[in-house]
Amino acid sequence: MQVARIVENSPFARLARLKLAVPNVAMVLGRSIHLSGVTREEFLRDPFWVAHEMEHIRQFEQHGRLGFLVRYLWGWARHGYYHIPFEIDARTAAERDAHHYAQGQPLPSAAERHATPKVK
Ligand SMILES: [Zn+2]
Repeated sequence: MQVARIVENSPFARLARLKLAVPNVAMVLGRSIHLSGVTREEFLRDPFWVAHEMEHIRQFEQHGRLGFLVRYLWGWARHGYYHIPFEIDARTAAERDAHHYAQGQPLPSAAERHATPKVK
């Protein structure tokens, strides 16, 4: 399955990484996946992570750039990061869609997968 445009060393993803205090971040802005602390190759090696971000791309398309950001930030303020409805849906989509992005490889184990930040 086609993966969205990927931006490495993104200053936006770097800000999110500092805010979340995690070593690496992938975040969606519009139709692009922005990375910080992780290379394109490392990111693509985790089909669960790719499927998670592709769900955010779909959410962006559904709600529009502003609609997505407003709902996302509102959800963050109201529920905390881990329980933002868009994040819950993206985690579900990751389990459902990872096999689409596995590129013929076996799916990584729980230990090999990128862990969603469990932060507030
Ligand atoms: Zn997410």
